[in-house]
Amino acid sequence: MRELEYLRPDSAAAAVAAVADRPGARFLGGGTNLVDHLKLGVASPELLVDISRLPLTDVEAYDGPDGSWLRIGTNVRNSDLAAHPVVRSRFPAVARALLAGASGQLRNQATTGGNLLQRTRCVYFQDVTTPCNKRDPGSGCSALEGYGRYNAILGASPECVTTHPSDLAVALTAMDAVVVVLGPEGERRVPIEELYRLPGDRPELDTVLAPSDLVTAVELPSAAANEHATYTKVRDRASFAFALVSVAASLDLAGGVVQDVRLAWGGVAHKPWRARRAEAALRDRPFDEDALRAAIDEELADATTTDQTASKVPMVRNATTMTLLRLAEEAAR
Ligand SMILES: Cc1cc2nc3c(=O)[nH]c(=O)nc-3n(C[C@H](O)[C@H](O)[C@H](O)COP(=O)(O)OP(=O)(O)OC[C@H]3O[C@@H](n4cnc5c(N)ncnc54)[C@H](O)[C@@H]3O)c2cc1C
Ligand code: SF4
Repeated sequence: MRELEYLRPDSAAAAVAAVADRPGARFLGGGTNLVDHLKLGVASPELLVDISRLPLTDVEAYDGPDGSWLRIGTNVRNSDLAAHPVVRSRFPAVARALLAGASGQLRNQATTGGNLLQRTRCVYFQDVTTPCNKRDPGSGCSALEGYGRYNAILGASPECVTTHPSDLAVALTAMDAVVVVLGPEGERRVPIEELYRLPGDRPELDTVLAPSDLVTAVELPSAAANEHATYTKVRDRASFAFALVSVAASLDLAGGVVQDVRLAWGGVAHKPWRARRAEAALRDRPFDEDALRAAIDEELADATTTDQTASKVPMVRNATTMTLLRLAEEAAR
């Protein structure tokens, strides 16, 4: 048995200082991912800094100089966030993404920050008997020649071909969320699109955060488009399964012309994939199925597939088409 120190600090600043002081320390949220990794030997921290009891549990609206925002404390549990009336009415894609993830029991335990920073579900990452550059840099990538149905089709590198697992992160990426981070130098706000990384030659790094950076909150901007939004998840069974691909989308139409559209894909890359090319092809133009399919294909032009991932291209194409057509139909009612 390995010895492990456990600390429950009484403030966010004390938590950050505790992790900054010890290279082998990790934050502990709900523990639904990290505790599994302790058991599997995927993570072996010397110190666990439990932040789950810090009072970062509010969901509150506030007005900033650049409009109104919803601020979600990092310790808001996934179930509570999905059920929150403001989230359900003004950010329905976020509520749907949460409810599409994991199971009721896990959502009761999992936190907002922990969900965003959960690690990949690549089977080799979780199996310490196999090479994996993300777990053990320089050891190789077993997924290149092995089981690869969940692998990335966009933005992968020869070092790592895995995908990001969080449903919530995909919805937040489409909604232009901002992550509030407290580090040893103070607080900063990181747009979620800049939080996650592509693997490149450093696949061990999922995000731009340092180990002692604590996510304290997530902020969502109020926007008409975010209210006309939804989340579609394609998976092997209706619950308790990670996404093969997923789509978070919002659409604002006036007279059949696209005023605003936001599109993010899950299950296709090492990070939630904001489909900016497709958005640009659709914006300010009449909306119809042909234009939509052409825009999606533009985004997918750089997709790289194998025999195991080839089906992801039609999957993401069809899921995105279906999702946006449904949003357009709703807008027309
Ligand atoms: C069987 C199963 C099925 C699942 N299915 C899905 C699914 O379909 N979709 C989905 O999205 N998820 C799914 N999950 C993952 C689940 O949602 C995550 O395990 C959970 O969201 C992690 O949250 P947590 O609070 O328990 O994080 P923890 O396990 O406590 O932490 C996860 C990581 O984040 C770090 N961390 C935690 N909080 C912070 C913070 N505030 N600041 C900085 N770092 C922090 C920890 O150090 C750790 O590295 C599934 C999990 C299981 C076990
Ligand atoms: S795809 Fe990434 S996480 Fe999976 S084995 Fe390769 S390096 Fe490891």
